[in-house]
Amino acid sequence: MKKSDFLKEYHKKRDFDRTSEPFGVSKNSSKSKQAIFVIQKHDASNLHYDFRLEVDGVLKSWAVPKGPSTVPSEKHLAVQTEDHPVDYADFEGTIREDEYGGGTVMIWDAGTYQNMNDKDGKKLSMSEAIKNGHVLFRLDGKKIKGGYALIHAGKGKNKNWLLIKKNDEQADARRNPVSSEKKLVLSGRTLNQIAKDAKHENKQD
Ligand code: MN
Repeated sequence: MKKSDFLKEYHKKRDFDRTSEPFGVSKNSSKSKQAIFVIQKHDASNLHYDFRLEVDGVLKSWAVPKGPSTVPSEKHLAVQTEDHPVDYADFEGTIREDEYGGGTVMIWDAGTYQNMNDKDGKKLSMSEAIKNGHVLFRLDGKKIKGGYALIHAGKGKNKNWLLIKKNDEQADARRNPVSSEKKLVLSGRTLNQIAKDAKHENKQD
């Protein structure tokens, strides 16, 4: 792997002869279309939701143990993880137990987002906002919509952030999407079905 590898950490953590995850060779930047987001439910040793935003040709990633909330006052811990390739947004399947991140991954929600960051009336890029530790965006997914903030909870290399719902027309204190909406947006399968299908596929080869 080259030193300049933009997915260095992602590649270092995985053995691509063994994992079913995409290698992610190039930056598929989608300049003409809107940037995407994806939330992947990941049944690893600790169940969590991987929240990913497309920024400058990679997926900036956070692991959110409780998943996103629709309640404005709730702050959900979001631990920043390594950048993932953009084609990871389509990944669904079971990573073998002895590999990094072993467990089943399902696409829980997906869609596009809008950068809502500005400073003194000027638009701030997503990468600048992330560097500043204060990121505002509007999600347009199937389950999750509206404004959210990601706030860096520490300084420097601290990986802890908070994912917070903005108080807007999409805020809903009575909705609990994490427990009430278990089905996938992509295939309509449940987590258990993906795991079963993966076992079946493995038996056949
Ligand atoms: Mn994960």
